[in-house]
Formats: sequence, structure tokens, C-alpha cells
Amino acid sequence: MAGTALRRRLIWQIATVITNRPVSDAARRVTLDVADWPGHRPGQHVDVRLTAPDGYQAQRSYSVASAPERPQVDLVVQRVAGGEVSPYLTDELRDGDQIELRGPIGGYFVWHSTSGGPVQLIAGGSGIAPFLAMLEHHEASGSTAALRLLYSARTPSAVIDAHRLDAHARRGVATTITLTRAASPDGVRRRRRVDAQLLADVVWPVPARPQIFVCGPTTFVESVANDLVGLGHTPASIRTERFG
Ligand SMILES: Cc1cc2nc3c(=O)[nH]c(=O)nc-3n(C[C@H](O)[C@H](O)[C@H](O)COP(=O)(O)OP(=O)(O)OC[C@H]3O[C@@H](n4cnc5c(N)ncnc54)[C@H](O)[C@@H]3O)c2cc1C
Repeated sequence: MAGTALRRRLIWQIATVITNRPVSDAARRVTLDVADWPGHRPGQHVDVRLTAPDGYQAQRSYSVASAPERPQVDLVVQRVAGGEVSPYLTDELRDGDQIELRGPIGGYFVWHSTSGGPVQLIAGGSGIAPFLAMLEHHEASGSTAALRLLYSARTPSAVIDAHRLDAHARRGVATTITLTRAASPDGVRRRRRVDAQLLADVVWPVPARPQIFVCGPTTFVESVANDLVGLGHTPASIRTERFG
């Protein structure tokens, strides 16, 4: 059984684009139909491979942003200026286009409803992608695990899937969205960097023994993880995913 799963993961599959919609000023949600998708756990990622007409190939990783309860596979891709793959996925992919992917990959940066809580999610920028899958799964599975989300974006329009995050907040996910380059016009989202003080203010306290997930750019992840350890959280309670 395990051998079968391993072999499956290594196979490149054709995925067909169903929709490609904006979810922030620089990110798009690409919904894919993948024949024989084996299912995934929230937090896993896929490898995407593009092949140019001359045979040149480029490959990058993207977190699955949809819950396992849905049959399609969603990716949330942020356009990186000067990047090779992400601008193609955000700006060029049209409904009906096909790309290659393989997965799901990863068994460490995963939260499933059976893992319980409390859970602390901490995202920087496009690092929100795997948490969108976890939040959707939390809702779809009817989990009662207590969730908190801390999400750092640059500006109000850079917040990915703001409407979905607000809906999760309304159903009880304790959500803090903080902006590093501008305050929101309504004053709801404050301008503030994620530092030790903010973590102390909004993250589950140490005695609650939360499972903590941190995802985003390498510098963000490293500084948050260091600050969490400084606050007394054990390294074993902190799982990290670096987007590079
Ligand atoms: C496990 C995992 C999961 C991930 N999940 C996601 C996800 O869900 N969503 C997401 O958006 N990303 C995700 N990433 C990041 C993703 O894999 C890519 O690294 C990202 O999309 C950038 O790829 P790219 O080909 O566009 O940029 P690259 O070509 O790889 O460029 C990388 C860097 O070099 C810089 N650069 C490249 N060319 C130039 C140039 N000519 N001038 C100046 N700078 C340049 C870019 O600005 C960028 O900072 C994930 C990464 C990992 C490891």
C-alpha cells in the first residue's frame, strides 16, 4: 500500500485548468481538474512542471489551497516579478489549458481534523496558501479544534482571499491580519510587522500547548520561529514551510 502511494506521487499527471481567478492584487486561484487525483491532506503541496516548445522545462512547488473534501485541486499562486514560472501560471493560463503536476507531496507540514487542536497558523504573503486548505477542511469536516490565524501581508489589496478569511473569522477562527506597508482605510487592519510582541499578544500562550504552523518567505519563517522559541514555545511544537 505504502509502495503504491509512493509510486503514485512520482508520476506526472495532466491537470486541466477549470478557472483562474484573482484573489489579490498579485495572486490567482487556479482550479484544476486532475484525473485520478489520489486525495491529499491539508498542507501538502504539488510540483508543477512547464515545458516550452523547444523542450526546456521548469519545475516549482505549490501548496494545495483547497480542502480534500472538494474533488478539484486549487493552487494559489502569487506572481513573482521577474520569476520564471509564477507569471505564466497567473497571467497566461486559460480555462481548458493543461499543465503537468505530481503529488500530493509532504507528510510533515500537515494538519488534519483528526490531529485536534489548539492550532496556530502564521502566514507571510503567499504562505497563506496551505492554510486556506486547512481552514476549508476545518469547516468542511465540522472540526471543533480551536484555530487561530495570524497573517501578514504588505497592503490591503495584497491580502489573499480576504473574503474567505473574513468568513472563517465570522465562524470563530480567531484572525489577526496585519499589514507591513500600509494600514487599511477602515482601520480594521493595522500597520504592524510580526515581531515578538505581536506574537505574544495574539498567538496561543505556551500553556495551551498549541500545534504551530509557520509558512512564507524564508526570512519571515526564520524570524517568527526564533521569536516563538524565545517566547517559550518548544521547537517540536513549531512546523515550518519555507517558500524560498
Ligand atoms: C513546498 C513549497 C510550496 C510552495 N507553495 C507556494 C504557493 O502555494 N504559492 C506560491 O505563490 N508560491 C509557492 N511556493 C514558491 C514557488 O515554488 C516559487 O518559488 C515561486 O512561485 C517563484 O517561482 P518563479 O519561477 O516565478 O520565480 P523564480 O524564477 O524561481 O525566481 C525566484 C526569485 O528570483 C527572483 N528573480 C528571478 N528572475 C529575476 C530577474 N530577472 N530579476 C530579478 N529577480 C529575479 C524573483 O524575483 C524571485 O525572488 C512554494 C515553494 C515551496 C518550496
